[in-house]
Amino acid sequence: MKKFLAEFKDFALKGNMFDMAIGVVIGGAFSKIITALVEGIITPLISLIIMAVTGQESAEALFGSIVVGPFPIGNLISVIIDFLITALVLFMIVKALNEANTLAHHNKTEEPEAPTTKECPFCKSEIHIDAKRCPHCTSELE
Ligand SMILES: [Zn+2]
Repeated sequence: MKKFLAEFKDFALKGNMFDMAIGVVIGGAFSKIITALVEGIITPLISLIIMAVTGQESAEALFGSIVVGPFPIGNLISVIIDFLITALVLFMIVKALNEANTLAHHNKTEEPEAPTTKECPFCKSEIHIDAKRCPHCTSELE
């Protein structure tokens, strides 16, 4: 169980889970749009075409139906707006995370590594930073 938790933590922190969560949210919102599109436009359109073809409805009635009729466009619009808001919020979260990441990375690379060697002023050999005496020319260093 401990190993499982450690693996899960690793997985979550790597950002894979976050990418996946975004995919799930976007996918869910997008499938809502598809459903609304089908229910709001395609299904009524098909039924109108069938009615027109079978002569159950006149051309004028057909046109009227398309403009004002049974098309629940309102649902489609609200679903699209939901999707856009969801995408916008996700975009802002990802942007903020990316900036935090870049900043963290930037700070990491900016910070110079503490030197572990220095140059002997007498023989120009590379020696340990804390050396009091050069191992190459045996000169005493301050
Ligand atoms: Zn030296």
